[in-house]
Amino acid sequence: MNVYDSHRMADTLAPAGFMETSNPEDADLVILNTCHIREKAAEKIYSEIGRIRQIKEAAARDGRQMMIAVAGCVAQAEGKEIIRRAGAVDLVVGSQNYHRLPQMIARVERGEKIVDTEFPVEDKFEILAAPKRDAIARRGISSFVTVQEGCDKFCTFCVVPYTRGAEISRPVEKIVAEVERLTEAGVCEVTLIGQNVNAYHGHDRDGRPATLAKLLRRLAQVRGILRLRYTTSHPRDMTDDLVAAHAEVPELMPYVHLPVQSGSDRILASMNRKHTRGTYLDVLARLRAARADLAFTSDFIVGFPGETEADFRDTLSLIDEVGFAGAFSFMYSPRPGTPAAEMDQVPQEEKSERLQRLQAVITRHQRTFNAGFAGRTIDVLLEKPGRLPGQLVGRSPYLQAVQVMAPSKLIGSIQRVTVAEIGTNSLFGVLESPVPVLAAAGA
Ligand code: SAM
Ligand code: SF4
Repeated sequence: MNVYDSHRMADTLAPAGFMETSNPEDADLVILNTCHIREKAAEKIYSEIGRIRQIKEAAARDGRQMMIAVAGCVAQAEGKEIIRRAGAVDLVVGSQNYHRLPQMIARVERGEKIVDTEFPVEDKFEILAAPKRDAIARRGISSFVTVQEGCDKFCTFCVVPYTRGAEISRPVEKIVAEVERLTEAGVCEVTLIGQNVNAYHGHDRDGRPATLAKLLRRLAQVRGILRLRYTTSHPRDMTDDLVAAHAEVPELMPYVHLPVQSGSDRILASMNRKHTRGTYLDVLARLRAARADLAFTSDFIVGFPGETEADFRDTLSLIDEVGFAGAFSFMYSPRPGTPAAEMDQVPQEEKSERLQRLQAVITRHQRTFNAGFAGRTIDVLLEKPGRLPGQLVGRSPYLQAVQVMAPSKLIGSIQRVTVAEIGTNSLFGVLESPVPVLAAAGA
């Protein structure tokens, strides 16, 4: 979501004459777009500000003004505390106020310091500038589109309901228009983004409520769309129509990221997850019944307050029972203001030891999953040049990176590729046919 937000910020500032640069020394404005989900991510921001401050001071010695802005969820959560702790920061902008950036920056240029973390009444998605065609093309053939933001679920460990606010869904037609603009500029894969994307409940053109499944079916009809994905889902919101969409919409990829967090019912209850191990497994069974080749990935938290060795083993046994294709795993990180931060904490060494054990089990399953592709011919959407001359990198339907020798004109097309070798982080394949199976409109 921060990738998507960063693009929207750049698009909103483009009419004011700002262009993107990857080199902070060249910049008149540096925006640090931050994440507050775990303490490590939040703390990293202060060391980064220290580094940028030196560049700002060097620019000032050359008589040039450089502005530093902090955006995102750390900005939302810490507000003016950021300027108190790091005086080099000129602007703190919460995740709901990016549409106001041009006005705020004009004031900073006149020497003001600004903190804007109010939840606004207006809809930022309505006002944020649309990307220009060349900006879309520069960003590649696969794009994120935020369709839902915020969360009303209040898991006891999580800051999202506080930093991103209540759950909102964008209207169907606005999303369709955005996706059409992307495909016209060469995008052929779209990943719909939301903290609880499958809780999507936007309105269609006639004002009727639309589910994520309905939205996906509508987007599958957009000319140039080859692949659709969505992330991140909550097990409670995996409705029957979304399950059916996996069986019926060919553009929808057979890959579902469905965070479970823990395999212990006691811990899931304490996390206020609103699902149990059993109901989670039922959701996977419904999905598998709709489409047998679905791959699942998940998120896990180890060392949640009160987690015993027996609870942790329940998590390991769940991983073995499901056989996930991959997972993100984290040590529990107490977040100020959330209920779990006040509970009895698991010692750091135990968390760290459990994380290592958990990651070893996940890696074993990931390797088994990837090994199953040796010798198989799969559809690969070719995305960009690889590291070697003449090589392209693409993605399998299951989001595995696939390296293949192929001409760059095939970027943006789906090709049949036979997997010849399984690497640690990617598959290596051989192109079956030099003729594009499907070509994206405008790609
Ligand atoms: N909405 C998704 C869900 O309910 O499964 C998760 C979205 S959250 C932004 C991404 C992941 O960060 C979570 O699935 C969880 O594993 C992890 N996470 C959130 N808060 C955390 C915390 N306090 N400590 C460690 N990991 C955390
Ligand atoms: Fe956070 Fe996801 Fe729980 Fe919402 S459902 S509070 S985003 S972990």
